[in-house]
Amino acid sequence: MNNFPDKVRCLIIGSGPAGYTAAIYAARADLKPLMIQGLQPGGQLTITTDVENYPGYPKGIMGPEMMEDFKKQAERFGTDIRFGYVSSVDFKNGLPHKVIVDDLYTILADTVIISTGASAKWLGLESEQRLNGFGVSACAVCDGFFFRGQDVAIVGGGDTACEEASYLAKLCKKVYMLVRKDALRASKAMQHRVENTPNIEIFYNTETKEILGEKTTSGVRIFNTETNEEKILNVTGFFVAIGHQPNTEIFKGQVDMDGAGYIKTIPGSSRTNVEGVFASGDVQDHIYRQAVTAAGSGCMAAMDAERFLAHKGH
Ligand code: NDP
Repeated sequence: MNNFPDKVRCLIIGSGPAGYTAAIYAARADLKPLMIQGLQPGGQLTITTDVENYPGYPKGIMGPEMMEDFKKQAERFGTDIRFGYVSSVDFKNGLPHKVIVDDLYTILADTVIISTGASAKWLGLESEQRLNGFGVSACAVCDGFFFRGQDVAIVGGGDTACEEASYLAKLCKKVYMLVRKDALRASKAMQHRVENTPNIEIFYNTETKEILGEKTTSGVRIFNTETNEEKILNVTGFFVAIGHQPNTEIFKGQVDMDGAGYIKTIPGSSRTNVEGVFASGDVQDHIYRQAVTAAGSGCMAAMDAERFLAHKGH
């Protein structure tokens, strides 16, 4: 049985780079943080393979191993890390805030740091899941480097897909963009950029049927919905860029969000519109979405929480 404390000074929800960094700073500031890890302990990095762009790891590191290091560092300073998920919150009745864990336990918290992240949307194919991390990725900036000089495909027609296709075009020999409609959804400037990049080829009216390969990606089977033609592209990388979903369902109506469901923070801080509630990482950032930016904003959240408590005389 999970013996949660009744009251804490700092409750951190989520265990990606933002949450763990917030925990390291909050623990070192003596806030005695409690972290509720959520359904995917370690967050999105636990479903990636090599991470080569996080400073401090000159030889790169595997995503799951890096998150273990984050966890150990947070534990070293006394963070109470618990497995469990936050099922609801009540930020409407002033301080301390009420957080319900596993539909069962009520915890009162003087400060809450939300770092529940975002999840990439996937196509939902069996082959996509099977080859995830083995040629299939939802982050070109993270994984594009592994496909230098190779042919890759990217699915999606929004700004992210165009931006990532442009990024990949600088590294890869050929980039195929797979767009389900007869037009790109991206801004005109981004459309022009991909259309004018010689090694990007756009396939419109195109659905992905299957990603091919046993252990690693070796191709993709696509289908043209206008001509009913099927075709195989020989690619070693398959990128999915069809949008992200912030993990904010439980905070709806409790804290201000933008139209896409990302939590709004006051610029230059991690403060939300609710006193004592802070947000860090991808849950409030749909632009950068990097482990290092998430970690940076986790540090901000812990420092903001500490200052808030000091100001309140706690
Ligand atoms: P968007 O929702 O804008 O675009 C998603 C794209 O994926 C669309 O082309 C959509 O197709 C396609 N798609 C969705 N589901 C599927 C599916 N199941 N199969 C195939 N294709 C699919 O998401 P983005 O991540 O591109 O952008 C999110 C927001 O962030 C936007 O507001 C964007 O403008 C902004 N952004 C801005 C940037 C910038 O200004 N530099 C950079 C990146 C993002 P369809 O069009 O047919 O619906």
